Amino acid sequence: MTTTTPEYESLPALATEETATRAGTVVMKFGGTSVADVERLKAVAQRLVAAREAGNRVVAVLSAMGDTTDDLVRLAHEISPKPKARELDMLISVGERISCSLCAMAIHDLGHEAISLTGSQAGIVTDTAHGKAKIVDIRARRIHEALDAERIVLVAGFQGVSTDFDITTLGRGGSDTTAVALAAALGAEACEIYTDVDGVHTADPRVVPAARKLHAVSYEEMLEMAASGARVLQLRSVEFARSHDVKLHVRSSFSEAEGTWIREEDKRMLEKALISGVTHSTEETIYRVEGVSAARLFEALADAHVNVDTVVQAGDEFVFSAPDRSETDAVLDGLGVQWSSRDDLGQLSIIGAGMRSHPGVAAKAFATLEELGIKTELVSTSPIKIGFFVPRGKVEEAVRALHEAFELDSTEAVRAHD
Ligand code: ADP
Ligand code: ASP
Ligand code: MG
Repeated sequence: MTTTTPEYESLPALATEETATRAGTVVMKFGGTSVADVERLKAVAQRLVAAREAGNRVVAVLSAMGDTTDDLVRLAHEISPKPKARELDMLISVGERISCSLCAMAIHDLGHEAISLTGSQAGIVTDTAHGKAKIVDIRARRIHEALDAERIVLVAGFQGVSTDFDITTLGRGGSDTTAVALAAALGAEACEIYTDVDGVHTADPRVVPAARKLHAVSYEEMLEMAASGARVLQLRSVEFARSHDVKLHVRSSFSEAEGTWIREEDKRMLEKALISGVTHSTEETIYRVEGVSAARLFEALADAHVNVDTVVQAGDEFVFSAPDRSETDAVLDGLGVQWSSRDDLGQLSIIGAGMRSHPGVAAKAFATLEELGIKTELVSTSPIKIGFFVPRGKVEEAVRALHEAFELDSTEAVRAHD
């Protein structure tokens, strides 16, 4: 077993004279399902207009409609087995432009002013890592001007312009990060993430139907959840929220109900729940590498922007997990080291700030998995997370069993907040 403390990368300082909180600026982000067709886009337009009529300066960040991004990626691979990353970004960034321009038209028809902007027009400057670019600066002048002119501003999510003036995308799910970064740069009071579930749940509701909505989750817990597969927020958006103190409200785009608040930890969060959730992911590959120094190995991976997760060292051998299969393979081949990989494992994680002060969580989890005859192949821990790699085909069964073992479906586990 190994102990890893997640090291989140440094974030750009977005503080400029523009970041002083301006009363009533709201950033509202709508995911792909929420803008999937004309009716839903019209409903989003109505929600934005309502927020504007309530006196807010409204900035909306929209994702591409439904499966548009997947369709565009597929199309690229039909044309070419290995499309160049720059051209892929040019292509897949258009999905969000479609949603924003259509929504602006719907807002005009409701009698309000609106303007759609690409990430580049909105002043979102990134590094040059195509497909997983990081925001390095936000030059929000144009957004401010549009807001001052009483317009609703629609910003295409998940994209920016690089320091080399190319269009970049921020990685799958990146519209969340666009929204939070804008909320930070504009000094918005909160960032609302509208999605197809009514909040952050104790587990993925698609896998655990009994999963309950959490009222409040701390930044640290949400970081761990997002890092270990809870797709509902992109990891980097949570990093931004934490380091720039942006409160997030994850809620349904199909109802007015209150969702989940992501914010600083408070005592009540700790008192009520030992475990907040069980997450899972089946997208990582486990690598075993020998014959290279740790410094050389991890530097080469970092240079290729590979996000390495769980790392275990045993003698001269390193075991780690990574999501970017083809890039990781290329780096290891380039190093000329001995390596092997496994694609047959998935990770499940139990997460909870209360874990810090309560021993016995690991014991209970191991007992639960053992009872099911599920063998753990690799285990990693942080102060508030225990992650288990188990055979991929067993992941969903294990998630349900742990959810039940920690009584996450019982109302007792409901976490109070103000
Ligand atoms: P959007 O298109 O709005 O960005 P996503 O598909 O990216 O939506 O994220 C929402 C999905 O995240 C939900 O439909 C749900 O299946 C999944 N999900 C995974 N884990 C969780 C969790 N712990 N709580 C809520 N949703 C989760
Ligand atoms: N449309 C992009 C994706 O599907 C970005 C997003 O939805 O956040 O990943
Ligand atoms: Mg998403």
